[in-house]
Parts: sequence; C-alpha cells; structure tokens
Amino acid sequence: MWKAPLAAVNDEIIRRVKLLSALGCDILRFSVPNVETADRLGKLAERVSIPLVADIHFDYRIALKCLDWPIAKIRLNPGNIGADWKVREVVQKAKDRGIPIRVGINGGSLPKGLRAEKDRGRAMLHAAEEELSLFDRLNFDDVIFSLKASEIDATVRANTLFSEAYPYPLHLGLTEAGPLVSGIVKSTFTLTTLLRAGIGDTIRISLSDSPENEIVAGREILRITGMRQGGIDIVSCPTCGRTDFNVRAFLADIHPFLMEQQKDLTVAIMGCPVNGPEEARHAQLGITGSDKYAVIFKEGKIIKRVPFDKALESFKEEIRRY
Ligand code: SF4
Repeated sequence: MWKAPLAAVNDEIIRRVKLLSALGCDILRFSVPNVETADRLGKLAERVSIPLVADIHFDYRIALKCLDWPIAKIRLNPGNIGADWKVREVVQKAKDRGIPIRVGINGGSLPKGLRAEKDRGRAMLHAAEEELSLFDRLNFDDVIFSLKASEIDATVRANTLFSEAYPYPLHLGLTEAGPLVSGIVKSTFTLTTLLRAGIGDTIRISLSDSPENEIVAGREILRITGMRQGGIDIVSCPTCGRTDFNVRAFLADIHPFLMEQQKDLTVAIMGCPVNGPEEARHAQLGITGSDKYAVIFKEGKIIKRVPFDKALESFKEEIRRY
C-alpha cells in the first residue's frame, strides 16, 4: 500500500514504485480520495508495469473516473457508495472494462447490526455477504474479498468461513498489525495459518512502518510458505563474545542491495572468521572479518581477503557474479 497522497506523477514516484516492485511487490494499492487523484493514478498506471489498485470510499464518481484508466482493480464497498443506481453505474463500467472490484470487510467497522455478535469471524462473514448480495443483484461476479481484523483469531476464522462458503478470490491481511517487529510476528502467524490451509490469493502486511518493509515482510512470508521462489535468503549470526566483524552495520549497508536481487541464493554475514565460514557452510556466499579486513567465503571456503573499506563493494561484486 502506497502511504502518501499521490500529489504528482514524476520521476521520483516512478523510481519508488519500481523499487517496491524490485523488492517483491506484485500489486500496489493507492488511496484515491478525489477525482484529481484518480487521474494521477491513471497516468501513473500508464507509466509503470506493476498493476495498480484504486482504493475508493463513498464517492462513486471517483470510481467511474478510475475506470477510465488502465488500472488493475478498484477497491470499494458497495454499502458505502450509497444509492443503488450509483453502485449500478460503477459495476456496469467495471464489467465493460473487465476490471475486478475488491470488497474490503474490516472487523473494526462492521455494520451496526453485526457489532454485538460474539463470533467476530462470523460477523465479518455476514458483513461480506451483505456486500455480496448487492453484486448478486447486479449479476456481477468479478469480485475479490478481503476480511481483515486486527485480531488473529477473528481474521483466520472469517477467511476460513468465507473460503468454505464462496469461490471468490481472497486478499489476506491482518489489519492494524502494529509496529515493525510485533506487526510482522502477528501477520506471519495469521497468514501462514491461512496460506498453509490453501486459503488466499494475494496478501498485504499492514505495518506502522514503511511500504518497503511491508513488501519485504510479505515476500518472506511467501518464501517460507513455499509460494515464492527467488530472492536472497540472508543468514546472519546473532554475534557473541567472539565477534570481530560488525554484523549489524554491514547488514544495514547491504540489506537494500540484497533485497533487490532476484537470484535464488543464501548469503551469510557472520561475526568472526574463526567460526563464521564453518557455521554458514550451507550459504553459497558469505562474509566476515574484523574492523580492518573482510574475508569472503563460498560454501564455507575462504576465496578472498579484502581491506575493510572495500568489503561492501567486493561482496556485492561476488553476489552479482555468482
Ligand atoms: Fe559468535 Fe562467530 Fe558464531 Fe557469530 S559466527 S555467533 S561471532 S562464534
């Protein structure tokens, strides 16, 4: 999810969108609060290859405007668009343009009649069914659903119930998951539970953090569940009393580069030359050393020793070459 207002379509925005794509983002959603932003998003969609999704609330005219452009999907809830004829216009245009609509159920903003329900997962299912009935009346089935809550159990239950009852694709996520570390832990638990049960078609990690970190977290979840191949698996030691090499600082420097690589490689960053290469023998490439020099190793065997100030570039070069 893009987190800033889309104020302009310029080279900087395009560079960042391409970076997210290189990090593993396969589909990118933008908030579209007005018709002007809809045009900007449309122009952006013409300039990038990654599919873009328009997130729309309340105003059907924004949805109609978005549908003039080559976007991949719109996200709206018919229930908050208002009169039936407005929903009908949007749905008809989406049908004509072959653009799917995603409905997003949020456990924190359920319709009044469902808020007291104790079984929160079932309440979310009923909310989804209310939205679905509007599409059914309009004979529109190119829909995707998301049922997200900030509680793990409710999210897992809602998606499980929905997938048992309906054939529509599901976009998964734990909403308002929190700050970086706890948000990733909670999201990983929720999404791996669902993905391993065969539920879910797209995912989003919702963190109070950068979109880049959301993408990397999502990518790693897909990798550990075996749903995504390629990209670098990083092995790094926790450091101990033997540490000579500043693992954290080196990782901070090289991490963006590693995240952008598509190669299917295990790369190790280890704290000491005595144990590091051996402990990380399963990595295809690794680095360790001290504050004066670095050693680069390949499958546990040292292949190069370089001055510390050349360590970053030399290691990148070895990775590129591998
Ligand atoms: Fe400690 Fe060296 Fe093992 Fe890292 S590689 S945990 S520094 S012994």
